[in-house]
Amino acid sequence: LQRNPGEAEFHQAVREVFDSLGPVLRRNPQYADAAVLERICEPERQIIFRVPWVDDAGRVQINRGFRVEYSSALGPYKGGLRFHPSVYLGIVKFLGFEQIFKNALTGMPIGGGKGGSDFDPRGRSVGEVMRFCQSFMTELYRHLGEHTDVPAGDIGVGGRELGFLFGQYKRITNRYESGVLTGKGVTWGGSLVRTEATGYGTVLFAQQMLRTRGRELDGLRVAVSGAGNVALYAIEKAQQLGARVVTFSDSSGYVVDEAGVDLALLKDVKEVRRGRAADYVAERPGARLVTGGSVWDVPVDVALPCATQNELTGDDAKSLLSHGVVAVAEGANMPTTPDGVALLQAGGVLFGPGKAANAGGVATSALEMQQNASRDSWTFEHTEERLTEIMVGIHDRCAETADEHGEPGNYVLGANIAGFQRVADAILALGVV
Ligand code: NDP
Repeated sequence: LQRNPGEAEFHQAVREVFDSLGPVLRRNPQYADAAVLERICEPERQIIFRVPWVDDAGRVQINRGFRVEYSSALGPYKGGLRFHPSVYLGIVKFLGFEQIFKNALTGMPIGGGKGGSDFDPRGRSVGEVMRFCQSFMTELYRHLGEHTDVPAGDIGVGGRELGFLFGQYKRITNRYESGVLTGKGVTWGGSLVRTEATGYGTVLFAQQMLRTRGRELDGLRVAVSGAGNVALYAIEKAQQLGARVVTFSDSSGYVVDEAGVDLALLKDVKEVRRGRAADYVAERPGARLVTGGSVWDVPVDVALPCATQNELTGDDAKSLLSHGVVAVAEGANMPTTPDGVALLQAGGVLFGPGKAANAGGVATSALEMQQNASRDSWTFEHTEERLTEIMVGIHDRCAETADEHGEPGNYVLGANIAGFQRVADAILALGVV
């Protein structure tokens, strides 16, 4: 705490993982002897830089850029870039810390990192977003490389921003190094299914959890928060599996659509027009926008928080429990507060933590890197099959690890221990570096 003052989200993320590690540390004294916990708390490298750019009115704007290269024990640093006004070092470090264990859980050769800026893309013209991205990459490029550090998207960074970032990287380095970024457009080195992967993976994880109780998503009521990349494709997969998704949200409020969200309309509003929740409601009879209050007050069987950190609180958990929620799978990173997690678990809810449930995105990024390295591109069906295998594998690894440690069904414990052990063993093997 003293070493990293004011980084509340980072402290929260570290505590959440360390709370699970008692049993594994008792069984493996070599981790403490080699100061593995201390090493895992200290990023390998943290880069903070000025991002100057000129807005449409000709004024110079200054933002702050970050890249935390957290751990390369298992492979090149891998994790997204977030552009949102709330971004500061504590958020980037929490995301980078989570990413280490998430990436380890996928079983793939990728280390952990995260980055971003306090730049707010909302309300900015395409030209402004492009100039910002170019300036951001003009500093960041020197730290990247397909064997060094491979960013992707996150909040506020989608295909458009990744295109501008890749274009500037290519121009500065004079290299068409496809493997330096993931989440690329499919016509210029991207992978099919990457756009869908995080949301699809979250629903596949929920499906696996439900099956441990002999249930399916078919016919269940689902609440989704957010209306960005993760939320849209969580809605799509849940609907494909027969669920009725009755909510989504953005920072203006949440929408209740009892007839089931009209995904074609929502995609048009969000992906094409870059509009707001009110634009959806204006064109969708029966849907209503609620400002104030919480999306988790809507009665559902399954909740999928897919917006941002700490969006599902203890009070929200109580509300979900009072309506008989069966499963919660985190599409976002750390969306549930610690008291929320404790209440849901105590209430017998199947709870899939983000580092397991949303790992489908980064796993598919690793598949994109494989395709780039072999100059190949796989079909949608093949890639989705790989994603499904990976999500089932992550689910089973978490469940088996929880069983081994005498806490069957505790996916938080299972994910933390399984992810930690893979990284810790690599750290030990590589010596004091
Ligand atoms: P997007 O920017 O595409 O969408 C974010 C959505 O959440 C938007 O609807 C946004 O609303 C809403 N939102 C964001 N911040 C807030 C806030 N403070 N209050 C209310 N609503 C908010 O991001 P993604 O879908 O990519 O990411 C969502 C979450 O998933 C994040 O936690 C991210 O770290 C995590 N994640 C993403 C992965 C990916 O592949 N993209 C992979 C793994 C995890 P508005 O537009 O109004 O701001």
